[in-house]
Amino acid sequence: MKKECSYCSNEFSEEWRSEWGENKEQHYKSIVCSNCGKKDCVRVAFYSSGDTHKPKNSSLESMLRKVRQ
Ligand SMILES: [Zn+2]
Repeated sequence: MKKECSYCSNEFSEEWRSEWGENKEQHYKSIVCSNCGKKDCVRVAFYSSGDTHKPKNSSLESMLRKVRQ
C-alpha cells in the first residue's frame, strides 16, 4: 500500500478506507488527502469464495491491517 498522495506527494497519515466497486468482486481502498483534498484510491485483490459479502467486515479490516504492517 502506497503512503504518498499521487497528486501532491503528501505523506498520508489517515487510515485507508475500504470501498466496494459496482462489481462486488472489486474491492478498493480509498483515502482523502489532508493536504490537497483529492481522493486517491487503489484496487486491491479480493478473493471471493462465493460467500455473502460483508462490506463492513471488521475482521477483514483487521486482517488487511495486519498484512500491511
Ligand atoms: Zn494530496
